[in-house]
Amino acid sequence: MEKKIDLNSPITALSGIGPKRADLFAALGVFTVGDLLRLFPRGYQNRGDVKTLCEAAMSGETSSMILTVGSEPKSVTVKNRMTLTKFTAFDESGKCQIVFFNQGYIRQLFHIGETYRFYGKVTRTKSSWNLSSPDFEPTSLSRALPDFYAVYPLTAGLSQKIVRGAIALALDGAELNCERVPEKIRKENSLIDFAEATRIIHRPQNLEQLERARKYFVFEELFEFALSVMHSKREKENVPGAKLSLSDEDKRAFVNALSFALTDAQARVIREIYADMGSGRAMHRLVSGDVGSGKTVCAAAALYLAAKNSRQAAFMAPTEILATQHYRDLSVLFEGLGIKCTLLVGSMTKAQKNAAYAEIASGEAKVIIGTHALISQGVEFCDLALAVTDEQHRFGVNQREMLSAKGKNLHVLVMSATPIPRTLAMSIYGDLDHSAVDSLPPGRQKVSTFLVDETYRERLTGFIRTQASEGRQIYVVCPAIESGDTTDGETDTSALVDFYGKPMDFSSSKLKSATEHAQNLAKALDGVSVACLHGKMHSAEKDTVMRDFVDGKVSVLVSTTVIEVGVNVPNATLMIIENAERFGLSQLHQLRGRVGRGKYKSWCILVGENLAEQSKKRLEALCETSDGYRIAEADLALRGPGDFFFERGKELRQHGALSFRMADLYSDMDVLHSAFEAAKSFCDKEI
Ligand code: ADP
Ligand code: MG
Repeated sequence: MEKKIDLNSPITALSGIGPKRADLFAALGVFTVGDLLRLFPRGYQNRGDVKTLCEAAMSGETSSMILTVGSEPKSVTVKNRMTLTKFTAFDESGKCQIVFFNQGYIRQLFHIGETYRFYGKVTRTKSSWNLSSPDFEPTSLSRALPDFYAVYPLTAGLSQKIVRGAIALALDGAELNCERVPEKIRKENSLIDFAEATRIIHRPQNLEQLERARKYFVFEELFEFALSVMHSKREKENVPGAKLSLSDEDKRAFVNALSFALTDAQARVIREIYADMGSGRAMHRLVSGDVGSGKTVCAAAALYLAAKNSRQAAFMAPTEILATQHYRDLSVLFEGLGIKCTLLVGSMTKAQKNAAYAEIASGEAKVIIGTHALISQGVEFCDLALAVTDEQHRFGVNQREMLSAKGKNLHVLVMSATPIPRTLAMSIYGDLDHSAVDSLPPGRQKVSTFLVDETYRERLTGFIRTQASEGRQIYVVCPAIESGDTTDGETDTSALVDFYGKPMDFSSSKLKSATEHAQNLAKALDGVSVACLHGKMHSAEKDTVMRDFVDGKVSVLVSTTVIEVGVNVPNATLMIIENAERFGLSQLHQLRGRVGRGKYKSWCILVGENLAEQSKKRLEALCETSDGYRIAEADLALRGPGDFFFERGKELRQHGALSFRMADLYSDMDVLHSAFEAAKSFCDKEI
């Protein structure tokens, strides 16, 4: 009697799969028949597109051909004991030599006059066309041959043939009853069901069918993702949090202590934060806003609220430069308000750190600003109520959570300067509430942006000189640290592939290195103070250089992208980016955001030589607009999501968003949207 197989059966229930093969499948994450059916093809061979031998030879591509066997196969043993089995086959366009290696049994299969559909690559030798080790199927079978053949991901020891065979057994033998999308939602979204989709994805008959099957699995995947995001949001909504409030007098004191008037956007975001923190439930809020929109003051307002309620608040920044800068600005503000601010960064001496630990543990420190050092073991908070993370995409989810774990039922605020389209934000940060600082402080000037090549070098140096002589400061960003470097030492170049795994544009000939360029500029700009800053320098050294620049002692700062994150020097008016094509658009936008922060007219000059058409288009898009959201969209449109996701890649992966098996967040954005809608109505009904 035949055994009944279902989706939960181990794959050893399929005939021909013993424990040894099961181990191989396990390497692909396949344990059950259900897993096997969800081993989606990497792609398909289109064997239905039959070419003549001549066409196939000309195309140079793997092709499908219908050929008649022209000679009896003969085997010869050549050196290394390799057996070659050869015969000829032909069609109306020509004749070729077919060769198989070490497959003596082939000899028995082929006979003169029989026709087969062969699938392989025709190559040319001096005397003939050759087809080596092609796939083949006899055309004399009663049923028509299928056009599409699935190609599966493999692991050593497994062949396409084995995987195809196992899947065929599973499709024919198992009951395909595993519906994960409720029927009503399937209908509303015009989706086929699981059984049909599964059959088609492995054995499509045509492309339209395949598209429908793919849509089903994309939806299924994104629907489950949406459900989990919603679930996690619901869970967070029920976490209690400290109920914090301020007197009107204290509110006024904060506003009066600022050196500027809040914009409407800032005031609204602060109200949203205060409403959360006063609700008695823990806040989980994302504040997004373009570079320079003034997010820091929103964070400061939250820190102030906690401190005024005699609780502690932590503010974590991704780099020492940024943490130190926040500390310098905020400690002035908070000291004026009678609140003790403490800094904690990795480069502090042991004694300094111990002093900070003591202040933090005793509760004397109310506002604690620092880097990852804040989540290290030695740090014990006395009464932490709020955790703020700046430039949160620079941190892993784990690091954020480690900070949240430093207290109980903390209010959590995360800040992000990376504009992302709404639907994506909803999925990536779907478990957070969202506030947008969606306008810039008044009086901001647009940063004029130009793209130039090496012929402008002299004029560029002249421009630096005039800006410096007027007392302004200049940033010059280079992609490498030392000459000959191919990376900047900070950016993980292994991540520099786009969403489809395509490498980013590395076409540029020679990379400008920060150290060498700084020396050259110092020579060319005799009398102007030039300093260099890069990731290989010691923290203390970096801090000194950065402080000298902030204090105006240095006019020209030549650096790698270490300055990218959040640095604020209002007197800087010129940003020059060398080998601009090496940077992602959103990253360039962030760099550009370092200038135009004060009252002076500012410029951003992108230098690129011998640019590929695509790179040129991207950089021109940056010259045309200063709106981060439009730049993100242009980035998506021009390059696909790779560059766009480059920085967030890590985070997305931690969210599992890049590990979708079928869905592609960019091209399936509309499905993502419907999946969230569906999940929302589904959850609402559940309650
Ligand atoms: P980001 O959103 O990029 O973190 P910041 O908070 O660093 O921006 O603010 C950028 C600059 O704008 C800072 O110098 C800050 O003092 C200034 N700023 C912030 N809000 C205002 C405002 N309402 N009016 C004028 N200047 C402001
Ligand atoms: Mg900032």
